Amino acid sequence: MTTRVLLATRNAKKLDELRRILADAGVAGLEVVGLADVDPFDEAPETGATFEENALAKARDAADATGLAAVADDSGLTVDALNGMPGVLSARWAGVHGDDDANLRLVLGQLADVQDERRGAAFACAVALVVPGAEPVVLRREWRGSLVREPRGTNGFGYDPIFVPDGESRTSAELAPQEKDAASHRGQALRALVPHLRGLAQT
Ligand code: IMP
Repeated sequence: MTTRVLLATRNAKKLDELRRILADAGVAGLEVVGLADVDPFDEAPETGATFEENALAKARDAADATGLAAVADDSGLTVDALNGMPGVLSARWAGVHGDDDANLRLVLGQLADVQDERRGAAFACAVALVVPGAEPVVLRREWRGSLVREPRGTNGFGYDPIFVPDGESRTSAELAPQEKDAASHRGQALRALVPHLRGLAQT
């Protein structure tokens, strides 16, 4: 018998990534479905002050609306020289939600006078698991690096073309997708959730 788990996203790549991570970890008995696979419900806007709050709110809404165990994530870029911003505002930093190029250009402009040794940053990802009737689980993982001055690479999305992970010379937009998944904030956070999901498969 399989247990359905709802990943609160419409992003097919995120669904594939969680399915791959569960398969790699040998977790059987879970069927991962997305928002497109369940009856529509009102999705509240992301208004939390932290990645953790947003991930938990999204997972709670999804579990409440469907009665399924629900996983949600929230992620973004935190820049040391900007006191951790854009943070939860990463997707709409330049004012329009999801305008990756404008967001990246704005951050580059803000850092124009910041010298190389102070250009540290991290991608952060919080994931939440809400199982009806159980205590929620919320985890956060980071991927540290620094920001270059000129975008490079065409893989990935968002701020990937300006982010060079620690220990790398390539930007995360120059990494192969599998290389990025193995190291990234989202990959780390989802893998850290596996033991909790494994428990679900056995109940
Ligand atoms: P979301 O959590 O998928 O909504 O992502 C929020 C925003 O953070 C995205 O729109 C990107 O601007 C940024 N972001 C999150 N993860 C990444 C990543 O892996 N690479 C580049 N940008 C990211």
